[in-house]
Amino acid sequence: MHEGAVLLNIKTRFQRELIYTYIGSILVSVNPYRMYNIYGTDMVLLYKGHALGENPPNKLNALTNSLFIIPKVLFCFFYLLFSGESGSGKTEATKLVLRYLAAIQHTSNIAQQVCTSPLMESFGNAKTVRNDNSSRFGKYIEPINYNFSGVISGAITSQYLLEKSRIVFQAKDERNYHIFYEMLAGLPSQQKRAFYLQDAETYYYLNQVQLHQICTLGQDYRRLVAAMEILHFAAEDQASIFRVLASILHLGNIFFQRHEVCIWFVILFDVVSLISAQEIRVVDAVAKILYSLLFHWLTEKINSQVYPHQHTLSISILDIYGFEVSDLTFNSFEQLCINYANEYLQFFFNRIIFREEQEEYSREQVLWQDIPFSDNQPCIDLVAAKPHGILRILDDQSCFPQATDHTFLQKCHYHHVHNPLYIKPKMPTPEFGIKHYAGRVTYQVHKFLDKNYDQVRQDVLDLFIQSKNKQVSAVPPGAGGEDGEVTKHFMVILWYVSYLFLSFLLFRCNPFFVRCIKPNNLKVDELVSHQLRHSGILETIRIRREGYPIRMQFDVFLFRYYSYINVLFISLFFSITTQEERRCLVKCICHIIFSKQSFPTLVLSLPRALIVGISYST
Ligand code: ADP
Ligand code: MG
Repeated sequence: MHEGAVLLNIKTRFQRELIYTYIGSILVSVNPYRMYNIYGTDMVLLYKGHALGENPPNKLNALTNSLFIIPKVLFCFFYLLFSGESGSGKTEATKLVLRYLAAIQHTSNIAQQVCTSPLMESFGNAKTVRNDNSSRFGKYIEPINYNFSGVISGAITSQYLLEKSRIVFQAKDERNYHIFYEMLAGLPSQQKRAFYLQDAETYYYLNQVQLHQICTLGQDYRRLVAAMEILHFAAEDQASIFRVLASILHLGNIFFQRHEVCIWFVILFDVVSLISAQEIRVVDAVAKILYSLLFHWLTEKINSQVYPHQHTLSISILDIYGFEVSDLTFNSFEQLCINYANEYLQFFFNRIIFREEQEEYSREQVLWQDIPFSDNQPCIDLVAAKPHGILRILDDQSCFPQATDHTFLQKCHYHHVHNPLYIKPKMPTPEFGIKHYAGRVTYQVHKFLDKNYDQVRQDVLDLFIQSKNKQVSAVPPGAGGEDGEVTKHFMVILWYVSYLFLSFLLFRCNPFFVRCIKPNNLKVDELVSHQLRHSGILETIRIRREGYPIRMQFDVFLFRYYSYINVLFISLFFSITTQEERRCLVKCICHIIFSKQSFPTLVLSLPRALIVGISYST
């Protein structure tokens, strides 16, 4: 087994339109960039009720279906984690899983959850250089509840880390959130007039670099309104949403036509006074807060519709934004946060697939030679360890009024210059580099401090609280503070990754990994093998092949392989009593079935406890 063989395998399958491949219970998915007809109802029925591996993995359904069966048997928590670069297909896979669950369950709640996708995407996705429909927020769906009969009762979505800076600034060849363009393309002219809206070219927030071609957005607008209707958004709620969006666009233009726009703003917004300071920074901050309040309101509203009322067993689905690795584009604080979250996901994967697995073998006294894997703990430490991880330094600096991006960078250089994963530029440019598991990335420190701060001014919040507009006045608790509290983005990420990890440790939840791969039509092999190598797929196959990837319940196992089992073992099984001995026996049977070794060699390779068991019984 080597990289070329794995690559060839995946490539051949891909050319035959087989985009999914199992590695044990891990699923590798290669983005086809076109919809195959494999997700229909007939396929759902084919997979319904079958265990993992019974049907070919050319449908993602096989994986979700196995998740669906297992909770009936076990009282566990499940995690479905999608990882891969931006544009590799994580969000699409999340949607397919939800659609599949909705199809097999026939519960309105899940069906509704599926309907929320276009809505959340309009507000939370944007065109980036890597993906025309890139998610700019993390989505965590939990729990798709099962009651004891195995029926899903609903789901709740949390959103975190919406990329707020996009509202006021977009990099070259990128766009603002879809919703703005959809609104301008689709809103009936009467409503447009009521909100003083004109064409997209008019708005600074949509046109800083160049106006990007807008296609099929009228259709997207209709899809959006249809989704709102299914979710019972009242007409006045819909109007208020567009009102807030219009206000944001007008805010962006204050810089150009200050007086005129201010008046519009007051009318639209139902507020009596306007912020006294007119500096651009304040205006931008207000626009960002407005949008995030709207997004927050939207998520809450959706959740109130689809919230499950029973809490029993659960499956959680996590879809985060993908690794953004490219030295050609401008990488800033947002990319560092995104890449750290992905780095952590990789760490989580390593921990479960390699460390936990091998520790289990040693606990079980299985003869085992450790498989090395590339541990990314040092990179996690470089970014976030106390006290001098890069984000810790940033956090620290945020508390000093006289700190600047420059002082932050100097501190990073000072603490990490000798770290092999840290790259200090040869020229005194305002940047630093990190060698991530998926490749090296250079980050420009411009505005790092500002972005981490993201200060929410209390006077602005007060203004919002007075507003008659529900979407705006519902300021979530903790959004502001006595003296302009600081929302530290880094803390949010830290919270989320530790939550993931903690729930794994506490509940022994069962994570299922889907590794998404992004092909590149021009240089497929090079790009794909880079992703394979960096995500540790090769090592994964090795541990899956040499290890014991399939765990069955004891009785299920006996039932299934009953006919293969030698009389000796059956009698042995009934004659031994301790749990430990039984476990050893099962292992021995596994050896016989799977390795086809002769009995004497087998006995020699058995753990001591079992040999004692055998001689005891004979
Ligand atoms: P990510 O969330 O990993 O950044 P997306 O899920 O948004 O990536 O995928 C990017 C694009 O690739 C989608 O807009 C879609 O056009 C295409 N795509 C992804 N997965 C599939 C799939 N399974 N079948 C067909 N097209 C897909
Ligand atoms: Mg996505």
